[in-house]
Amino acid sequence: MKKRCFLLLKFSLAIVYKTHSKNTSNNLVSSNHTTSYSYIMIRSGFLFTCVLLSTYLIAQEKPEISVNKKSVLEAVIKQEKKMITMSDQIWALAETAFEEKESAKILADYAESQGFTVQRGVAEMPTGFVATYGSGKPVIGILGEFDALPGISQKAQSTKEPLKKGAGGHGCGHNLFGVASLSAAVAVKDLIAQGKLKGTVKFYGTPAEEKFFGKLFMARKGLFNDLDVCLDWHPSAKTEADVQSSLALVDFIVEFNGQAAHASADPWNGRSASDALELYTTGINYLREHIKPTVRIHYDIQRAGDVVNVVPDYSRIWVRVRDTKREGMQEVWKRVEKMAEGAAIMANVDYKTSLVSGLHEILVNRAGGEAMQKNLEYLGDITYTEKEIAFAHGIQEATNKPKEGMDAKIKPLEETKEHPGGGSTDVGDVSWLVPVVRLGVTTAPKGTPWHSWAVVACGGMSIGHKGMIQASKALAMTMVDFYDNKELVEKVKTEFKERKGDYQYKAILPDGPPPIPIGSN
Ligand SMILES: [Zn+2]
Repeated sequence: MKKRCFLLLKFSLAIVYKTHSKNTSNNLVSSNHTTSYSYIMIRSGFLFTCVLLSTYLIAQEKPEISVNKKSVLEAVIKQEKKMITMSDQIWALAETAFEEKESAKILADYAESQGFTVQRGVAEMPTGFVATYGSGKPVIGILGEFDALPGISQKAQSTKEPLKKGAGGHGCGHNLFGVASLSAAVAVKDLIAQGKLKGTVKFYGTPAEEKFFGKLFMARKGLFNDLDVCLDWHPSAKTEADVQSSLALVDFIVEFNGQAAHASADPWNGRSASDALELYTTGINYLREHIKPTVRIHYDIQRAGDVVNVVPDYSRIWVRVRDTKREGMQEVWKRVEKMAEGAAIMANVDYKTSLVSGLHEILVNRAGGEAMQKNLEYLGDITYTEKEIAFAHGIQEATNKPKEGMDAKIKPLEETKEHPGGGSTDVGDVSWLVPVVRLGVTTAPKGTPWHSWAVVACGGMSIGHKGMIQASKALAMTMVDFYDNKELVEKVKTEFKERKGDYQYKAILPDGPPPIPIGSN
């Protein structure tokens, strides 16, 4: 765009110069004053149009933003050093589901130091918290995660090497997630404190996204119910205002109980829980042929006997069923659960199923996405140094991907797909309670395998930091939109109501305490 403006200016100057010299020479031979006068008028008019057009194009490239938006950008920039320190600390701690004591404390303490009222240990989760500032309407919420994944510890380098063998790692970039969201909330808080924005800002410290889905327990407790709009973002290999849904899921455990016996001396006295488990997974794998292609079934065999010379009397499997919509997921869930009975009958053992968790699919909000998109376009593409591009190439080489470097280009807002594929998130449950506006920002190279050491590596160095800061800016600007523009809030709410229809949110997991590991309190 910049190039086009300069070309246009250059072109107009060249014309003016040319016509000027032509006119001067014409005047030497012509005595027709009127012709010369109109010629000057046309020339001036042309020049004026060119200048106007150039100004318009330059203005198009970087539209003016409000004073409040400029202020939040400055407030994010002011926090950059602190943001990098906090995200690096959380990255190195790499605490997993419901064990994120230090990580949650870093964020909650920072919120408190900035004048937020912090409620710790919400929804019976020691690492869950809500930080609130301001009063009255609108109430704008923002979500922040900070849990790591087990077993993928990694140094901030482009070759695979654990930081601490066997430890966790931020393979989903949640060290960046929580910090960017909280820093955006702090930027907005500054303006509320100065009386430049009216309303309330609420930051949600949401634990255990990777395993037990902390937001689900917050949703069940009604912690999001007073929000007008809620924002969130996620680290990604591309940058976009996110207007795609996610998959609904259900998690359940099946346990088989049989009778132990000597595997060789008296196997006829045994009833094998492992036989039941094998028959069960065989059944599931036959079922795959007869379900919709949008459905996903995965399982994790957790126990299947301990030694070879004993008929196992106990086995245990964790099953997950997903689909684009809850209805589709529920149908397959009931069928897969029922199949456990068949397996138990065949192996002559007892069985038990226990529901672990369930998530709603995301209810998309395009009106909010469009506001986010405008702010992203204002911010423009993230740029990278040669060193960062070399780092990205190193990651791509190590993970057998083409050396395409980074993709932080702002693209046009996508159409919302009927079947988006991909993963699931506990943001889904929040999105059926209040409108949720979402964002994805580049924090890893193109094609990086997610939930892997490669994402951990990028989240602990400048590629991740740059994405985090960009996300914080876009989130803060979009929050300003919601405080300053009542019509936008109404538009977002109207779309939410239309998409939701008559459905009243009901968590898939019935009431009960969250599965906090023993010793985590
Ligand atoms: Zn994640």
